[in-house]
Amino acid sequence: MTVAFSMVQAEHTSGHTLMQQPSLALDIANEETVSGVEEQTDGARVGVLLPVPMLGVLDYAVPDHLHMQLTEGAVVEVPLAGRMAVGVVWREGGESLGSLPYYKLKPINRVIDLPVIREDLRRFIDWVSAYTMSSPGPVLRMALSASSALRAVPQRRHYQITAKPQEGVRLTPARKAVLAVLADGKPRVSSEVAGLAGVSEGVVRGLEKAGLLEGLDISVDLPYAQPELARSGPDLSDEQEQAAKSIAAKVWQGGFAPFLLDGITGSGKTEVYFEGLVEALKAPGSQVLVLVPEIALTSQWLERFEARFGVAPVVWHSEVGQAERRRAWRAVADGSARVVVGARSALFLPFQTLSFVVVDEEHDPSFKQEDGVLYHARDMAIVRAKLAACPIVLASATPSLETLVNADEGRYEKLVLRERHGNAVLPAMKAIDMRHEPPEAGTWLSPILVREIETTIAAGEQAMLFLNRRGYAPLTLCRTCGFRIECPSCSAWLVEHRFRRELQCHHCGYVEPIPTSCPECKNEDTLVACGPGVERLFEEVNNRFPAARTSVMTSDTMMSPSATAHMVQQIASGHLDIVIGTQIVTKGYHFPNLTLVGVVDADLGLRGGDLRAGERTYQQLVQVSGRAGRAEKPGRVFLQSYEPEHPVVHALLSGDGDTFMAAEKAARQRHHMPPFGRLVALILSGPEMSDVLDTGRMLANKAPVEHGVDVVGPAPAPMARVRGHHRFRMLVHTRKDIRVQPLIRAWLSRVRPKKGVRVKVDIDPYSFM
Ligand code: ADP
Ligand code: ZN
Repeated sequence: MTVAFSMVQAEHTSGHTLMQQPSLALDIANEETVSGVEEQTDGARVGVLLPVPMLGVLDYAVPDHLHMQLTEGAVVEVPLAGRMAVGVVWREGGESLGSLPYYKLKPINRVIDLPVIREDLRRFIDWVSAYTMSSPGPVLRMALSASSALRAVPQRRHYQITAKPQEGVRLTPARKAVLAVLADGKPRVSSEVAGLAGVSEGVVRGLEKAGLLEGLDISVDLPYAQPELARSGPDLSDEQEQAAKSIAAKVWQGGFAPFLLDGITGSGKTEVYFEGLVEALKAPGSQVLVLVPEIALTSQWLERFEARFGVAPVVWHSEVGQAERRRAWRAVADGSARVVVGARSALFLPFQTLSFVVVDEEHDPSFKQEDGVLYHARDMAIVRAKLAACPIVLASATPSLETLVNADEGRYEKLVLRERHGNAVLPAMKAIDMRHEPPEAGTWLSPILVREIETTIAAGEQAMLFLNRRGYAPLTLCRTCGFRIECPSCSAWLVEHRFRRELQCHHCGYVEPIPTSCPECKNEDTLVACGPGVERLFEEVNNRFPAARTSVMTSDTMMSPSATAHMVQQIASGHLDIVIGTQIVTKGYHFPNLTLVGVVDADLGLRGGDLRAGERTYQQLVQVSGRAGRAEKPGRVFLQSYEPEHPVVHALLSGDGDTFMAAEKAARQRHHMPPFGRLVALILSGPEMSDVLDTGRMLANKAPVEHGVDVVGPAPAPMARVRGHHRFRMLVHTRKDIRVQPLIRAWLSRVRPKKGVRVKVDIDPYSFM
């Protein structure tokens, strides 16, 4: 039986006081005792979870004709507030006393013809809901996130030759041509037959009438091709082989087994976990999930998969269109999709037999979902694998501190790859001390880096410049009055996007044309752009190297997976000389002819730092450096820094990441910070600043007083206003062994937020904005 929820209130707005679990039924009526007794005995009921916030599991009556189909996990259609909604049977029978009497229950409308949602996924949904303190509905919604999959699949009429041909039918040349096309026995739609035979579709219909062809309706969703396991992979090096064997052995054995695959960039981590995949797929019906940080960026991964397995994997992310979503979701549910590669939401797909999970680039910050249900996909992937009882590999060249500590403490088995594949070596790293080698006024590249770019392109090789700032300039300022152009609804500067000729807010998406005069003092031509973004760097590079083929890689220029794939292809095939990019370029790409990486501002990520600023900057710079010299030609990396003595820069130069991470670990340990203690953030927001602050003060007054628990705040959030809402933050810091969810739940129940104030709970926060 599944566990019943107690309603958790993660985001409570005033007006919703803590909702009670709609109290639930008595026992499932026992038909044997019921039959023959008076009229108004109770019938069967089931608890249904709906993908709706704040509802919990609701009881519905089971009509007699559906009785046999209503097992736990069945997908059903039920009436809800005057319309039909799709939900999942979460438990059979009623739960508690005092619930709605049977005669008041609405009946289940129908059972949808889909495989049942299996128990491991149902328990996972319960788990994520309880851990993140989100109500279960929105978590279920992520699992049912292909609304089209829940409707019947459209059919298309195909034609084939009837088994028993009719006698005495006149065969014109056109009819003969049609029969010839269909002679291979493959059913085809009439437009295809007509096209191939060079006749009109009327001929096809005529033959059907004459009884020579028969129509059959086939689902428009074609089955996915199956991976070819007989193909052999590359010869693995000794250390690759060892790691691959450890993984494959656990996959063969089955059961939960977490691995950290810690291998330098270019060491062949993908080849290694592919062996685990092969092992998993040998078992009939088993399925594999590979989570990647940003699916749009994995065109190269997909090509490699195809080269290795002869077919494309099933791809799952938010950009996948409705028809393909339906096809993928259903194929995952019926077990025919064997390998799924996807963004974090793929964790909630309804696998039949999940047998192996990979989280690639496990350190990547984008695994934390920052809206809706606030969960960390890497952490939840571990839970998913545990519930599915299967091995999981977390792969990275720069594992997160959390994962390293899990490995150090023996919870994860650690596999290490120390060498780059083939003759490739890690690039040589140098810092450019910007205090001594400053760029000319109004430019951003120091003379040293400019010379390096020159030599690189002269040698026919490629250079990459990394600057994690979209747009032309982060700030537009009036030279006369000092006015800074801000977003009208956020506490953020508007960022100039010169390619698009507009100012844009990176927090709410607000845009306005670039003004010609200062909005404040009205002077003409006094606005100046301050600081560099990638577009400005592009301008400088074009001025310096007019003959070079230069391109900018950011989320603004790579709006779709196909645009991204095209750009990656352009670089890989040598059609570009210089690539300028944001963090988007740091992710796992392999460009054999790229030999120079220039980090334009190595200090950028360290400013205004939070808990993980050092760790994150280190990971990002190792990853971007890892793009250089991945094939025969050795690579060079230059870090422009005003603070080259900073431990992060030092660690990069010395190549001694282990010492750096050990120091980070010691610091976190000293301050009982994660993973040695726990953090929970409360984000309070609302249209009226005083209401938000008052709510924060009330919360502070009622804060838990307990040994090992500290509460700080309310304090204005660094992003003090977003979309016109004022924001305050509170931070709960506890000892590691304290269960924070009950503590927070009890705390929130003691305070009623002021009208319009939203309290968002972020367990294990990664963003402190
Ligand atoms: P990582 O993910 O560790 O950065 P990759 O798996 O992308 O490394 O490997 C880097 C490159 O080396 C890829 O082009 C890959 O195909 C190649 N490679 C790795 N191991 C081998 C091997 N054993 N044989 C042939 N090519 C390999
Ligand atoms: Zn804004």
